[in-house]
Amino acid sequence: MSLLSPTKIVCIGRNYAAHAKELGNEMPERPMLFFKPPSALVANGDAIVLPHASSRVEYEGEIGVVIGRRLRRAVADEAEAAIRGFTCVNDVTARDLQKTDGQWARAKGFDTFCPVGPRVADGLDWRSLGVITRVNGEERQRGRTSEMHFAIPDLLAYISGVMTLEPGDLVATGTPAGVGPLTDGDVVEIEIAGVGVLSNPVRTET
Ligand code: ZN
Repeated sequence: MSLLSPTKIVCIGRNYAAHAKELGNEMPERPMLFFKPPSALVANGDAIVLPHASSRVEYEGEIGVVIGRRLRRAVADEAEAAIRGFTCVNDVTARDLQKTDGQWARAKGFDTFCPVGPRVADGLDWRSLGVITRVNGEERQRGRTSEMHFAIPDLLAYISGVMTLEPGDLVATGTPAGVGPLTDGDVVEIEIAGVGVLSNPVRTET
């Protein structure tokens, strides 16, 4: 049972310069949007299942924003006021398929590719959030909202100019540098101070 029942999961690509660079990409002029399907959601403790179709599945630790109020063509102040809270997101990605498919629906969309949790925390300041990723207890990623190319209220305002954001919708705000592969038996943790630790074991599809 997932923590959330969003109508959509909107993700941001290349929002940290060091991550864009590690994948050989330029920074975008505007936020780069893509989706994960709600069917990819799993909860804290649930397994991330590595599909046979991919030979390189990677973690992406991210700060997730949960929308509390409908947003359409909002300005940044309205968007900021509509935030219900924050949660940890793992934007699990089949990196090989992302490169070969030409678009990202399959690479980002397998079942179990969107762990979220362990809770939605309110009362946090979006300006001073940090996210850490660990695999088997070893730190792999560390990022802060102050390093984001596009700030969270601006991202929400931009998205709301394209599509109406509904209460419960989830926005994954991009991953810092340090992405890497997952293998059967790993445990991946995403931590945001004030939210907690999202922990998921990894196993191969049977
Ligand atoms: Zn991502």
